[in-house]
Amino acid sequence: DELDPEIQDDSELAIEGALRPGSLAEFIGQQKVRGQLQLLLDAARIQQRPPDHILLAGPPGLGKTTLAMIVAHESGRALRMSSGPAIQHAGDLAALLSSLTPGEVLFIDEVHRMARSAEEMLYLAMEDFRIDIMVGKGAGATSIPLDLAPFTLVGATTRSGLLPNPLRDRFGFTAHLEYYESEELEQVVKRSAAMLDIALPQPARAEIALRSRGTPRIANRLLRRVRDYVVVHGAGTANEVDPAIVDAALDLYDVDAIGLDRLDRAVLDGLIRRFRGGPVGLNTLAVTVGEEAETIESVVEPYLVRIGFMSRTPRGRVATPEAYRHLGIPHSDGALN
Ligand code: ADP
Repeated sequence: DELDPEIQDDSELAIEGALRPGSLAEFIGQQKVRGQLQLLLDAARIQQRPPDHILLAGPPGLGKTTLAMIVAHESGRALRMSSGPAIQHAGDLAALLSSLTPGEVLFIDEVHRMARSAEEMLYLAMEDFRIDIMVGKGAGATSIPLDLAPFTLVGATTRSGLLPNPLRDRFGFTAHLEYYESEELEQVVKRSAAMLDIALPQPARAEIALRSRGTPRIANRLLRRVRDYVVVHGAGTANEVDPAIVDAALDLYDVDAIGLDRLDRAVLDGLIRRFRGGPVGLNTLAVTVGEEAETIESVVEPYLVRIGFMSRTPRGRVATPEAYRHLGIPHSDGALN
């Protein structure tokens, strides 16, 4: 799926890498988090120690990986990258931790998906820069303590609620990344367009920003699709690219006028037509649209809740009147009351 924030081919990945801001100053938006990180990095520099462990929480595409790279870069430290799904045994983590050089920044993406045994090893490593390695089995098993080089863990998660408390508590600072305002996304588009040498007038940039679902990664993706459209269909000179051309390009990719994609609309449509607007449980909803519950919960829902189209109640997910209106479904048709 072209617009899925998680899926991309190699060339898209290369472009994404090229578009990453390299410093906190270049990082657009998230002003609060930037200030907090700046203080943390400054203090570590003054005291000549590795920065505290940092947890970055928020939906995909909001800049967690980028911030991890910036933390390493701004503190002049090497960066090692891994991810929760790649750490399926405590041994995977032991190998990773014991190979770190002093002061290195270790980025673990999707840290909530690590194996439980590795999680427990990580507690001790974060706190004391030490791990216990189990050797042998059964009655003869012993644990050998191993000292580690001091390091800074930067963990990223789309679901901070899934992290066990002991792990969450060991991060010195948790940054909650918020969806971006459209003015901020407009700046992202402007910056990326300049870097990719795409001339786009302001109204076209604003239109892309409005349809980017609050997410810089999507803004960059939509920008490239608009560029493709202009290349193929020719739109006179680039300065003539108007919002109508942006509309045409994005309609082709099923991005609607407010930036909802096919899956967002399928979830709302299912909720309204199959379950009369809810309340309905997450798993039932996921089955209805043929998608993993985790994707619905970490990618689809947060945005629909944020724009006021869905609410979470103790009895399940509920569609709001705004959602009915957006899909053009009369409220009395679907709702019980
Ligand atoms: P995450 O790790 O949260 O999924 P990334 O850090 O990979 O997100 O960011 C996705 C893309 O969005 C990157 O290409 C990056 O260039 C861009 N991006 C994210 N946040 C910003 C920002 N604040 N300013 C400019 N570009 C950003």
